[in-house]
Amino acid sequence: MPYDWEASRNRIMGTFFGTGKIDRVPYFPLACEEMICRITGKTYREIIASPKNYANAAITTFEFLKADTISIPTAYAGPGEALAFAEANDKKESIKWFDYKVFMAKQGVVCKTEEDIEKLEIPDHRKISVWDTCISALDIVNKKIGMGGLSLGIWSVVQELRGVQAYKDMRRNPDLLLKLCEKVYESQMDVLNFYQEKVGQIGAIFFTGYSFNKHMMSFEDAMKFEGQFIKRIQKKTNAMIILHNCGTSPYFKEVCEEIDLLAVNGSHPLDIEYWVNFKEKFPKVTIIGANIDVSRELLNGTPQDVENKVKENITNLAPGGRYIVGPICCLPWGVSLKNIMAIPKAIKKYGTHPLKFND
Ligand SMILES: [Zn+2]
Repeated sequence: MPYDWEASRNRIMGTFFGTGKIDRVPYFPLACEEMICRITGKTYREIIASPKNYANAAITTFEFLKADTISIPTAYAGPGEALAFAEANDKKESIKWFDYKVFMAKQGVVCKTEEDIEKLEIPDHRKISVWDTCISALDIVNKKIGMGGLSLGIWSVVQELRGVQAYKDMRRNPDLLLKLCEKVYESQMDVLNFYQEKVGQIGAIFFTGYSFNKHMMSFEDAMKFEGQFIKRIQKKTNAMIILHNCGTSPYFKEVCEEIDLLAVNGSHPLDIEYWVNFKEKFPKVTIIGANIDVSRELLNGTPQDVENKVKENITNLAPGGRYIVGPICCLPWGVSLKNIMAIPKAIKKYGTHPLKFND
């Protein structure tokens, strides 16, 4: 039987907008390049060789995981943007390729000096082969199953380009840092425009807001160096934003006071009470994840531990809707398939409507 993506779409939409009846709690896993390699048995270079290869590999992977969402993980403001900037600024040698995971940029090389920031050229993503492949793959996925969006971010790119120096700039030269943020924003708008030209209307944007974490910076700085740009993207595109932060001290409540978000995606705090309280405070914001962290039960526990964790989240957060199961961050190499597959099993067991929790 073919995979029922229409049922998945209904689950996701019904959950985000709190409308319609859904048959069960949806599942939103983050499967990065290494998981796609692992499940399809292909090298990363084979996957990225053509849009068709990438689209098919992604569909195979997300169907295998029994997901209700799908993504082309390289179409993302981390390594993908580092590569685009490196190519546009003749610094290709700062990118290292691997067999079974995504390429990596040497952090802080593209914008090593102040002059590098001043002269930094914004990439034209249409001319960057990796981006052309990714956006074309998104187009195929969209046509085939009516899903698949973009993943943006500001601070994730700043870190790639400027490295740890960015944190010194924050104190010593905030204007310079802001200049870099502006350029990254411009580049992100180019990605958005390219997507609109090739794929069409933007629905939701998965935004990796890595600045929104107490360990990184104050909330005020997070708004200055990332939050204001999210607001500008929203104003320009009317897109709905899902804010991802996989840090251990995220500013989810604070940011929801400032920015209109469709959903938050995190794995911390681990205390489920924080999330119960979040849901009471922001009933319109969907929670994706809550406290299912890939470096805990999934990495070190048994399938039963994983089941219990998913149950805890569904029991506390799914009643009333606007909850989606989502372990974060990316499912890493060390997590066993047995544990990974315990998630959809547990969702079926505890998350099928009508919800009942007596076993
Ligand atoms: Zn993350």
